[in-house]
Amino acid sequence: TFRQRLLVVANRLPVSAVRKGEDAWSLEISAGGLVSALLGVKEFEAKWIGWAGVNVPDEIGQKALTKALAEKRCIPVFLDEEIVHQYYNGYCNNILWPLFHYLGLPQEDRLATTRSFQSQFEAYEKANQMFADVVNKHYEEGDVVWCHDYHLMFLPKCLKKHNKNMKVGWFLHTPFPSSEIHRTLPSRSELLHSVLAADLVGFHTYDYARHFVSACTRILGLEGTPYGVEYQGKLTRVAAFPIGIDSERFIRALDLPPVQDHIRELQERFKGRKVMLGVDRLDMIKGIPQKILAFEKFLEEDAYWRDKVVLLQIAVPTRTDVPEYQKLTSQVHEIVGRINGRFGTLTTVPIHHLDRSLDFHQLCALYAVTDVALVTSLRDGMNLVSYEYVACQEKKKGVLILSEFAGAAQSLGAGAILVNPWNITEVAAAIARALKMPSAEREKRHKHNFLHVKSHTAQEWAGTFVSELNDTVIEAQLRT
Ligand code: UDP
Repeated sequence: TFRQRLLVVANRLPVSAVRKGEDAWSLEISAGGLVSALLGVKEFEAKWIGWAGVNVPDEIGQKALTKALAEKRCIPVFLDEEIVHQYYNGYCNNILWPLFHYLGLPQEDRLATTRSFQSQFEAYEKANQMFADVVNKHYEEGDVVWCHDYHLMFLPKCLKKHNKNMKVGWFLHTPFPSSEIHRTLPSRSELLHSVLAADLVGFHTYDYARHFVSACTRILGLEGTPYGVEYQGKLTRVAAFPIGIDSERFIRALDLPPVQDHIRELQERFKGRKVMLGVDRLDMIKGIPQKILAFEKFLEEDAYWRDKVVLLQIAVPTRTDVPEYQKLTSQVHEIVGRINGRFGTLTTVPIHHLDRSLDFHQLCALYAVTDVALVTSLRDGMNLVSYEYVACQEKKKGVLILSEFAGAAQSLGAGAILVNPWNITEVAAAIARALKMPSAEREKRHKHNFLHVKSHTAQEWAGTFVSELNDTVIEAQLRT
């Protein structure tokens, strides 16, 4: 049977590559959400195009890596160190990431960023063109090209300039901010024009899609409709496609012997206490200090709970070479130390804080045994941790406390306790409520979210986006 070819273009390929010799590489597939989403979509033959995350300056190394990656259906884009510095660390991570999450830059970085803006934006355009060159080389007529995330906002335009018949979709995994925020970007119009070159533009929530359409109407003066934006005589379709997870992968994992062993160990370790869980990359957007301060407030007000509850916070290290992230790490350590000093006893502390990642089995066990999950993102495109927690809680029916600023609040809001993470009094009250919640209410809330997580999978998300992209192109052809 014929399967349509799908070229998935993202900044990073879903593999980690380690060089083992002049022409030898070892590759490991990373099982992220996007990978399992696309593996699950059987009606397409997917290939990945992206950066392998390593600098390969020599031709022998590049050839060998290209060959090794081909077996994993991956095609590399080679970026040199200077480009990575300016495009990836600079424009993507220092400018677009904080701006799209409504975070200001630290005062001391603000002017420096303003001055380096132009050169970083030029590197961003250049890098996007390098991705486009690789896509063009591998494109065959009829392929669907799906561009991902804020790293590649320039890509749709580069692709369409080369071939206006290419089917191009673009999806943003972060929030798209209010047009008043987007307006402050010096390259605001170039980015919008380029994304509009795509046939279909997708976001996690309706709000992000609406923000994008407002940015196009207010900043570019274009016509917005409920379906998208009128651009150069055609309609660029704009819509919300909330991502999900491969829920069965988590549910199945709970029955595996190593996961069962971890579960027993954890239950033994925390016997007699309620356990609350936080799992976040240690990023400013996750609101980790706010979460811990709210937990402190809860302990302060409710002496009864002090030796009966523990917060396990997994803080996965990220961008550890960036001073601002180092500052966040020490800030969190200081608060945790203070609280443990204040409320700890000779045998217990209220907060277990880990600066590390967990393997999949450990993570599933933690999701399964904990009584409450606490997600306090200040902004978050979706937040998959909240989905994964729900998927693993069929037995325990734990409570999800969820920030209203996470995209997931749109889909799991009915079952979760929604909070404003900036209001630590409110979060402290939510913690008390979650810990005391009667089992009938827990069951009802859990059931609601569990049904949602099970029926809105990552596979379905990917399938819906691609068929919508195909339909959009057909409709456009009918109209002309
Ligand atoms: N995760 C992981 N190892 C860990 C902790 C978390 O691989 O030690 C995964 C987790 O399962 C989830 C992802 O990291 O799929 C985090 O995704 P989310 O959308 O919550 O936030 P992001 O980090 O993408 O901002």
